[in-house]
Amino acid sequence: MKNFFLGAILIIAVAASGFFFVRAQRAGQLEEGRETAGVCLACEQEVVVKHRFDEGAPFNCSACGEKAVFPWMFCYECNYKFVPDLEMLPGTNEPNFPLQPQCRHCKCYQVTYYDKAFFGDQVAGHAKLPSREAR
Ligand SMILES: [Zn+2]
Ligand SMILES: [Zn+2]
Repeated sequence: MKNFFLGAILIIAVAASGFFFVRAQRAGQLEEGRETAGVCLACEQEVVVKHRFDEGAPFNCSACGEKAVFPWMFCYECNYKFVPDLEMLPGTNEPNFPLQPQCRHCKCYQVTYYDKAFFGDQVAGHAKLPSREAR
């Protein structure tokens, strides 16, 4: 009788670990990639970049091959789409996406990453793209 219980517990333990293992794998697949709507500062082509979850801008441009694609941002104040001025971040040796992105049209900080599903109809205009040099 004791062996029966031990056996049952063992089966439940194996089933549970298998369940968690499968769940972990599924979560891993979801986190493996995401899409970012961006624009290339080299050729000014708008592109959607597929990249790893932990990978940040700049991304490689599918149009010209330069590593110069930065994500579009959206401003809640003026409804413009823009790419913020680039900054030299500590520990980096190339201009990068700023820690506090500022709207290039109205200069406010009420901004977020642009998402076509949310802001598609609201875009009032595109601010001029920044230079590829740090501000
Ligand atoms: Zn390009
Ligand atoms: Zn603005």
